[in-house]
Amino acid sequence: MAKIKTIGLLTSGGDAPGMNAAIRAVTRSAIYSGFKVKGIYRGYRGLITDEIVDFKTQNVSNIVHHGGTILKTARCKEFTTPEGRQQAYDVMRSHEIDALVVIGGDGSLSGAREFAGEFDIPIVGLPGTIDNDLYGTDHTIGYDTALNTIMWCVDRIRDTASSHERLFFIEVMGRNAGFLALNGAIASGAEAAIIPEISTEVDQLAELIQNGFRKSKNSSIVLVAESPITGGAMGLAERVRKEYPQYDVRVTILGHLQRGGSPTAQDRILASRMGAAAVDALLEGQRNVMIGDANDEIVYVPFNKAIKKDKPIDHDLVDTLRRLSI
Ligand code: ADP
Repeated sequence: MAKIKTIGLLTSGGDAPGMNAAIRAVTRSAIYSGFKVKGIYRGYRGLITDEIVDFKTQNVSNIVHHGGTILKTARCKEFTTPEGRQQAYDVMRSHEIDALVVIGGDGSLSGAREFAGEFDIPIVGLPGTIDNDLYGTDHTIGYDTALNTIMWCVDRIRDTASSHERLFFIEVMGRNAGFLALNGAIASGAEAAIIPEISTEVDQLAELIQNGFRKSKNSSIVLVAESPITGGAMGLAERVRKEYPQYDVRVTILGHLQRGGSPTAQDRILASRMGAAAVDALLEGQRNVMIGDANDEIVYVPFNKAIKKDKPIDHDLVDTLRRLSI
């Protein structure tokens, strides 16, 4: 394997708070270890359209506390084609980039796996997504901040919910994963979370109406993970209006609010540790792995495993929420 001299760095897909802390950590750790760093703007698109600049330590000054990503991010259709990836490879080589660090979610790491399968490039991924849906890591960069934002929002909605005696469905992000909804519900004292992972086991709406909402509560807050399987908050509200018309139901969709804001200490520290670990991984000759944290230890997770899309939800948490909402 050729010796790595220059590392290219990009952020891709949905932005997540803490990506800047990761960019800073990769850049500084790489320079510390004697590598050159090139920042690639707008994800894979910038690799194809040649938006690449030299990164020095000062390029990443004063960014650790900012949400979003200074490298910008994009979704790029061309990169999903062999021709697009060939073009990306040619541009990469013209800049003498020998290895890549990709910060992004499930899609971005799928792209990295494709790219690494076609060309002889070491690629290390960092899990940058608020959804926490990558397998092999307990936490993804941005998840903790999004969870705190959700908690903050639900606290405020609760004030109006309890004044009006209503059923509130609050939809949170997650792209078919219930981590934000479930832990957001526990953190904010919501009555229930409706999540895709258990949708085949129980009719969560019927259970909510029968067990919780009707028995002892005049108003209820339910966190709903966005999902075509459960219908999301809108779909569930529609069902309530048809099946349980006696209830006054309201929907709030938190949407992009959840992506913004200054990262929490936990996300900054996670991003910093993972960024440094990405450089260690390249120094050790690792390739095509995502950096994960498992029981507070850094681990290397092969791309194939990370993007398997079946990260399990913790059923103890589901049970805890049920017990606390009586
Ligand atoms: P995220 O990384 O947040 O999951 P996306 O799913 O939008 O975001 O993926 C980001 C980008 O990664 C896509 O726009 C595309 O360029 C690239 N990508 C995703 N899946 C693949 C794939 N199977 N092959 C090649 N590139 C992919």
